[in-house]
Amino acid sequence: MTHNTVVHEPARDLPVSAEYDVAVVGGGIAGVTAAVAAARNGARVCLLERYCGLGGLATLGNVTIWLPLCDGRGRQVIAGMGEELLKLSVADLEADDPPARFTRIPACWQPGGDPEERAQKRYRVGFNPSTYMLALEQWVVDAGVEILYDTRFCAALRAADGRISHLVVENKSGRSAIACRTAVDASGDADLCHAAGEDTVSLHSNVLTGWFYTLTEGQLKLHQLSNRYCPEAGTQRSQGPFFAGDDARQVTAHILQTRSKIRQRLAELRAADPGSDPRLLMPPTMACLRMTRRLAARFTLTAAHMHQWLDDAIGLTGDWRRAGPVYPVPFSSLRAVKTANLLAAGRCISVDNTVWDVLRAIPPCVVTGQAAGTAAALAVAQTDGDVNALKTGTLQEHLVSQGVLLDRALLAPPA
Ligand SMILES: Cc1cc2nc3c(=O)[nH]c(=O)nc-3n(C[C@H](O)[C@H](O)[C@H](O)COP(=O)(O)OP(=O)(O)OC[C@H]3O[C@@H](n4cnc5c(N)ncnc54)[C@H](O)[C@@H]3O)c2cc1C
Repeated sequence: MTHNTVVHEPARDLPVSAEYDVAVVGGGIAGVTAAVAAARNGARVCLLERYCGLGGLATLGNVTIWLPLCDGRGRQVIAGMGEELLKLSVADLEADDPPARFTRIPACWQPGGDPEERAQKRYRVGFNPSTYMLALEQWVVDAGVEILYDTRFCAALRAADGRISHLVVENKSGRSAIACRTAVDASGDADLCHAAGEDTVSLHSNVLTGWFYTLTEGQLKLHQLSNRYCPEAGTQRSQGPFFAGDDARQVTAHILQTRSKIRQRLAELRAADPGSDPRLLMPPTMACLRMTRRLAARFTLTAAHMHQWLDDAIGLTGDWRRAGPVYPVPFSSLRAVKTANLLAAGRCISVDNTVWDVLRAIPPCVVTGQAAGTAAALAVAQTDGDVNALKTGTLQEHLVSQGVLLDRALLAPPA
């Protein structure tokens, strides 16, 4: 039997299964935010998710620490849907549970809290991924977004003017096309940008990692299993083996080897305390790859932009790793280059390796999700779907009126 290296797939007609103003690919934290933001701004929205739950890494990957909304010096730099979703994540918590890393909003960050304490304690929480997954789903449904689960985005079709006209998807109904006027890539892996022919950058330096829970004598515990990584230094200061997130075999290898490491860690726990019987609960159900593939837009945010105002800023973010830095998040890091009706949100926006580790965290993913969803809806209403023709000032005004912090003073280093 001979093996060809390529085969020809015959062209075929696809049924157009639905039509929306805004189609969002990926129901992770950025995608749910983009979908709800677009719906709240008047668009008819669908959210496509290949798995059967929302939240992406934050829930299916057990990545359960809502990193800070503040700059670490006592100033809140993210509000809007970032704060709304942080509060939603711990709405079910009646008490902290430190071994499980479930932690409520610090008292100093409650209304009227002590400003001096805010400079010492960051505005972050730890949530239960199962309850958060259900809460996110209800939040999205309540906003009027149509979810399509178990649906994988496969290809983008273009109209004569180069814009995306349809997203090709596959699910239990087979292969079909979804018509849309604007699209948001919140796949985490820039799947849509890549399929649309946008330039992208891939990182092949992901390390083994997978957070999991155990139950031992009634106590739930989160284990933050991860090899050492240093995104700025590529593989030099990280602990191999290394994986690419845009290569099917490597994604599977990452999952298999992470699970092997989880089994090994459980054996070590049993050996260290022979009387205990740690029961494994909820290993991650998606590949826990931090930085896989991202859009290469006209503008790329770097560490050099720390504390600098950018005229097209759509939000701000602190740095979860250390107190002090504040970055502007520019709209141009979200905008595709070749496709007028395409935006990226979440961990696949255009940032370089010096700040990717900052911008991939949950809070900035929500900042970019809110901006992308709002811009997509405004573009449908005002510019026939062209996100480049949208006036930056109009987008900024809408975001500020919906709670986003866009204050230049917050960007300045604290005195
Ligand atoms: C080990 C680890 C620890 C981390 N720790 C923290 C932490 O403590 N705190 C923190 O804030 N951040 C942390 N992060 C980072 C953070 O969790 C993620 O970067 C963030 O949640 C990404 O959100 P997202 O929506 O951009 O992408 P994702 O969460 O990856 O969501 C993408 C979604 O798109 C779906 N999708 C992908 N491709 C397709 C397709 N073709 N068709 C349909 N659906 C598709 C996926 O199934 C997924 O639901 C961590 C990440 C890792 C891996």
